[in-house]
Amino acid sequence: MQTHNLGYPRIGNQRQLKRACERFWAGKISREELHATGRELRHQHWQLQREAGIDLVPCNDFSYYDQVLDMAVAVGAVPPRYRAVAAPDRYFAMARGYQQGGIDVRALEMTKWFDTNYHYLVPEFTREQSFAASPTRLVEEYREARALGIPAKPVLLGPVSFLLLGKEKEDGFHRTDLIERLLPVYLALLTELQQAGAAWIQFDEPYLALDLSDTDHRALVYAYGTIRKHFPTLRLLLTSYFDDYGDNLATALSLPVDALHLDLARRPEQLAKVLDHPDLPDRLHLSLGVVDGRNVWKNDYRRSLQLIDRAVAARGSERILLAPSCSLLHVPCDLDLETDEEALPPDIKEWLAFARQKLDEVVTLRQLALDRTTADGRERLRANREVMDRRSSSPLIHRSTVNERVNNLTEAATRRKRPYAVRQELQSEALALPLFPTTTIGSFPQTPELRKQRANYKRGEVTAAAYTAFLERETERVIRWQEEVGLDVLVHGEFERNDMVEYFGEQLAGFAFTRMGWVQSYGSRCVKPPIIYGDVYRPVAMTVRWSVYAQSLTERPVKGMLTGPVTILQWSFVRDDQPRSRTCTQIALAIRDEVSDLEAAGIRIIQIDEPAIREGLPLRQRDWPAYLEWAVRAFRIASSGVKDGTQVHTHMCYSEFNDILPHIAAMDADVISIECSRSQMELLDAFGEFAYPNEIGPGVYDIHSPRLPSRGEMVRLLQRAASVIAPRQLWVNPDCGLKTRRWEETQPALVELVAAAALMRQLTPQDRV
Ligand code: GLN
Ligand code: ZN
Repeated sequence: MQTHNLGYPRIGNQRQLKRACERFWAGKISREELHATGRELRHQHWQLQREAGIDLVPCNDFSYYDQVLDMAVAVGAVPPRYRAVAAPDRYFAMARGYQQGGIDVRALEMTKWFDTNYHYLVPEFTREQSFAASPTRLVEEYREARALGIPAKPVLLGPVSFLLLGKEKEDGFHRTDLIERLLPVYLALLTELQQAGAAWIQFDEPYLALDLSDTDHRALVYAYGTIRKHFPTLRLLLTSYFDDYGDNLATALSLPVDALHLDLARRPEQLAKVLDHPDLPDRLHLSLGVVDGRNVWKNDYRRSLQLIDRAVAARGSERILLAPSCSLLHVPCDLDLETDEEALPPDIKEWLAFARQKLDEVVTLRQLALDRTTADGRERLRANREVMDRRSSSPLIHRSTVNERVNNLTEAATRRKRPYAVRQELQSEALALPLFPTTTIGSFPQTPELRKQRANYKRGEVTAAAYTAFLERETERVIRWQEEVGLDVLVHGEFERNDMVEYFGEQLAGFAFTRMGWVQSYGSRCVKPPIIYGDVYRPVAMTVRWSVYAQSLTERPVKGMLTGPVTILQWSFVRDDQPRSRTCTQIALAIRDEVSDLEAAGIRIIQIDEPAIREGLPLRQRDWPAYLEWAVRAFRIASSGVKDGTQVHTHMCYSEFNDILPHIAAMDADVISIECSRSQMELLDAFGEFAYPNEIGPGVYDIHSPRLPSRGEMVRLLQRAASVIAPRQLWVNPDCGLKTRRWEETQPALVELVAAAALMRQLTPQDRV
């Protein structure tokens, strides 16, 4: 029984890769220095996995930005617009856009990796797409590991998932049609890897957890059949995760691979289906993903061993591999770094396991599976059972008042009092906004000075009073600044927030925190998800003070700014001892209380951000209705406690809503702002077709890139928007919060944005309401 790992977090336990990348982008370190950091991290991670006792350590799971981008580069799927950029700069140009020396190119689109909060860069394909192998990086990484005495297992995004993750940039073909053009390039990469000595290859085909078409199935059969034909001795491990194989199981079992990975953390019940399947090939090894790679709870050995025992009984231990359920990219690096007992009390910490600890769990499970009669084995099992028992009976978790409130929720609490059309009239009277009102999504640049103040405050080096005074000055400055730029609906800037989920989690009961629990979100951006361990409620008001202060400074409306229940849920590590829907409802009630308090304090517009609604969708359509039902209900619980004249906004980013528009509409927010600029408004067509009834602000400024858009560009986007949505329904805003941008970038961009709105007002006077 071998152990393996699907991927290790690459950002570094001190976020070394983030720092190095950002310093490189700022011109402060050389490319060589950046690469030295990358190499050091890879070595550390390989060594640490080796030392933990993992037999098959992954390589090529490292990336300077994103593994899908790396694959696109490795197969030469580089859109022609990047040819103008010198070769060494091309990689980051694809990731972040490039504006230098007269060259001005957009970044690739970015979107969520399945149901995670990780973002990948979307490959672009054309009908006559050509591919070309660039194996250098891949092979070098393999050799690097080998030089350390580690015969690593290269991880490749499988050809079918790679195509499916991308997007057609022209009509008239489907991207899986490209499989025959793509495959020779994969074969070339494999040739190089085999020559370098690779014995195992891990192919990730996460699309096997989704609904696939017949063409997709054929592409899989063709791809792996061809690979096998060319590489009869290479050992192929096929993985999929985040759900079971479902209807794709027969196809997966028919592929000529050596091992098949099962996500048994998400779908333990699929083991029986696989073992009982009449077409389960004799030769096939099963990789049991028993340790949850998506969550932070300590593994329940008893439960895992039941699964392992069952598989061993059916197949014998030689044909079993043990592993985490998916790449460990989605969990923090190391629980041992958490020493702040206030953030993470020891009685909660003992319920947890991060990436390093999960490797130990995999190795321990192997040991226990092979022999649990040793003194050491018995002791480990007993200790694990005791932790499980302490957790399930802990008084920290349950609070009866919260559950009574959830159980007693009425239908009326999930609905605004009157329909949107009536509310719109009341609101437009109360707010008197111009056509194409301008606003931003909430946050303004978080400067180094602000970060320093916050850090000093947290360390106790700055008093609460001084810190608050500093934040008030920043808030006042941004209010004046927005007035000067000429925005219509202002925000307070969110300077008091480190992160839109952590900030709320810190004030809600039922949450614990880490100090070093960083998880990569995209590129160099990391988040530190809170841990929801118990019943959630709101002991005191969370944001009222800041909104009231900001509103006191100006006549213009200032939006109250909250994070919605689904997003708080989705971007946290969620307790696994009750359904997610129940935890979400608890959070919704806490946000509802905050919304009421904001309204009572005189705030006329309240935004409840739900950027994570789309990514929470189950991977298979059959599971969508149930999720959408509770997720939309949670938003409505949070937002429906206000008067009809109070305007509720919501914001979502990186989402393709085409398939869930009725549900987005059912959230019944008065105004929704969405990401649109990278996709050039494609998204909006769907809103137009659906005749989306409420108001909508399609993002016209891509804040995820340092690139500065011109007013002409924004006007063109808005005109496109106005051709599908009635002008009186349209708002003008960036596509997300500005906190990751610098003031020097934000200022000109928003001046242009306000100018673009003004131009639109002139262009369409007949539509004035
Ligand atoms: N209000 C948040 C901000 O402006 C929204 C961020 C988000 O949607 N990711 O930062
Ligand atoms: Zn956003």
